[in-house]
Amino acid sequence: MSQIKAVRGTRDLLPPETELWNRVEATARRVFERYAFGEIRTPIFEDTQLFARGVGEETDIVSKEMYTWEDRPRAQSEKAQMLTLRPENTAGVVRAYIEHKLGDSGLLQKLYYIGPQFRRERPQKGRYRQFFQIGAEVIGPVSAGSESPLRDAEVLEMLATFLDELGVTGWTLELNSVGSAQDRPRYVEALRAALTDVAPTLCVDCQRRAVTNPLRVLDCKVLDDQDKINALPKIAEFLDEESRAHFAAVLAALDACGVRYTVNPRLVRGLDYYTRTTFEFTHGGLGAQNALLGGGRYDGLSEAIGGPKAPGIGFAIGADRLVLTLQAAASGEMAGALADVYVAPLGEARQAEALVLARELRRAGLRVELGEGSFRLKKSFEMGNKVARAIVLFGEDEAKSGVMTVKDFATGEQTKVARGDLAEFLRK
Ligand code: AMP
Repeated sequence: MSQIKAVRGTRDLLPPETELWNRVEATARRVFERYAFGEIRTPIFEDTQLFARGVGEETDIVSKEMYTWEDRPRAQSEKAQMLTLRPENTAGVVRAYIEHKLGDSGLLQKLYYIGPQFRRERPQKGRYRQFFQIGAEVIGPVSAGSESPLRDAEVLEMLATFLDELGVTGWTLELNSVGSAQDRPRYVEALRAALTDVAPTLCVDCQRRAVTNPLRVLDCKVLDDQDKINALPKIAEFLDEESRAHFAAVLAALDACGVRYTVNPRLVRGLDYYTRTTFEFTHGGLGAQNALLGGGRYDGLSEAIGGPKAPGIGFAIGADRLVLTLQAAASGEMAGALADVYVAPLGEARQAEALVLARELRRAGLRVELGEGSFRLKKSFEMGNKVARAIVLFGEDEAKSGVMTVKDFATGEQTKVARGDLAEFLRK
């Protein structure tokens, strides 16, 4: 029979790597909760229209990368519906915000999520078709202060704190303003005009983008194109007074709390909903896919999907890439997930009692591997040595006397320990 494999672009996460994933997620929860965020869990599939209208029909995500299917009705009363595996989570969170009338509280909603997202991209290191994002959104009515540049700065400061607490070093925060919904079309026009002359000298991808989505030209990584692209009009020149003041206030607040950044006038990002502040944290160790996380402000998103005016700002961290960064920094360290002890029943007659001993030690908080009574003593030692720091031999004598023989694999030292003292002994 042919072997069935994980689908292209998906992968299994195995221990000990999953320990790192859990550490990343636990740190996110701990840090975000200090900033008074609460967790939201939205469905993994949504009405396709949510992404078409929320993320934007013209974006790569919506036009090429979504997993979409027609859901067949189960009963005559149900209609066939186009559904999509979520390619990102902001649209889902804003839909939930609208659906549950969270804005009626008059307060800012501060929500974080952790979960899988799906995009049909060309898989490579750091880019998968199922990947995981840890993200957060601050959204609410204008009266709650949702438009304030302080929100932008607070979110960025939180991200810097999160990365610091995880021990990620060497990250760079790049920041830009893409202006308001009115500023951007004026800029796109100017860009389009400038590109009529320049585009034919750029790479083929840029020639296409110049027509379909001129902003994407700014993402070009082809070396020969860079000088020409840097000379194109910059969005900063097209910001209205308010957007300019907003951006200046964000930068001032970051300066005040010592979060370092660089302004990158070419950072426009791939999702249509962004307004004003956009940002990315990159990491040199990641290679071609160097964006650790991205985000920005989306003041018109709620209205675009049929809700009330509810400005917001959010981000999504690529958890897969964060884990890659941490692995590179701590290579080898993960191999250290040994159990505290290997309990070796000497003979099959001791199996049930050995399980009881393992249970006692586990209840005392130790990480315990339970061996197998049919193994010869030599094999128990070999197996134990691979998975644990120490071995406890549990034979008839030990069962009767209540005195255990413990061998420390590192030192080779053998010690007799009373059963009641065993947990304490192993902890040291
Ligand atoms: P986006 O939702 O496109 O703004 O992406 C936010 C972050 O998610 C990026 O900075 C990446 O770290 C991560 N990301 C996006 N797409 C993928 C993917 N296909 N595989 C792995 N990580 C991704």
